[in-house]
Amino acid sequence: MKVFTKTAALRAWLAGRRRRGGRVGLVPTMGALHAGHLSLLRRARRRADVTVLSIFVNPTQFGPQEDYAQYPRTWEEDRARAAREGADAVFRPAAGEMYGEGVLTSVRAGEAAGGFCGASRPGHFDGVATVVLKLFNIVQPDWAVFGQKDAQQCAVIRQMVRDLDLPVRLVFAPTVREPDGLAMSSRNRYLSPAAREKALVLYRSLRLAKEMAGGGGVSPAAIQEAVQALWAITPEFSPEYFGLVDPATFRPLTELRGNVLALTAGRIEGTRLIDNIMIMGKFPA
Ligand code: AMP
Repeated sequence: MKVFTKTAALRAWLAGRRRRGGRVGLVPTMGALHAGHLSLLRRARRRADVTVLSIFVNPTQFGPQEDYAQYPRTWEEDRARAAREGADAVFRPAAGEMYGEGVLTSVRAGEAAGGFCGASRPGHFDGVATVVLKLFNIVQPDWAVFGQKDAQQCAVIRQMVRDLDLPVRLVFAPTVREPDGLAMSSRNRYLSPAAREKALVLYRSLRLAKEMAGGGGVSPAAIQEAVQALWAITPEFSPEYFGLVDPATFRPLTELRGNVLALTAGRIEGTRLIDNIMIMGKFPA
């Protein structure tokens, strides 16, 4: 497995592989790799001849009060995991390799970025869209794989690819969970054993929504109310939002029809967690 820290070196190596007919797959990550990331890598390998995993804790997608400095950085473990999973190359640039100085050119994410995580993390999706566009330009992948765990990010990137005519095909991979249902996340390692237990409230809220929707004839407002009641008996959870949206546009739904994504976010012991599941229909390609 090759490891690159410089854009020019990665590009030169990729050009050689492409000349020999290799199709390129890209899996962008911020490292602290877990089984969710590795499932993305496996999906990329199924489609591509050359798989590039990027590891970049992107400063422009963190707010000033957020955990950029504390974000887990576990390079030696990441390198071993990526190699074991068959990545052909890892791209791990320093921030100075990715960004120049002064006021930077950037992408303004579209409508899908408006609510939910976009509302609670101003500028977050602009930072995500910009770094993903940069990675697309550097790697020029035929395929790029993202996780449904970050469903709003999927919607933002899908919209960017369409709006800016980017020549890349997207794959959105299902969320990998712990046996008890907790969505895997690099931030789970912040949780104490007690908080880890309480963190299940996110998945429970989503399952509750799915059960209610399965019964039929229920309104989004009734589901919201039931979720609020569940939260009321979980005082350790500081909720941020619960929503029912069209997963393609991230517009909130007033009736349950078509593709319905339930999503939630909140904090346990100060750690911010997000999760979502489809409660009707399917996640759009
Ligand atoms: P991150 O390193 O958290 O920025 O995530 C990098 C990629 O991995 C994103 O496309 C995420 O959606 C995806 N990802 C994170 N957690 C999971 C998970 N539990 N299952 C599947 N994909 C995930």
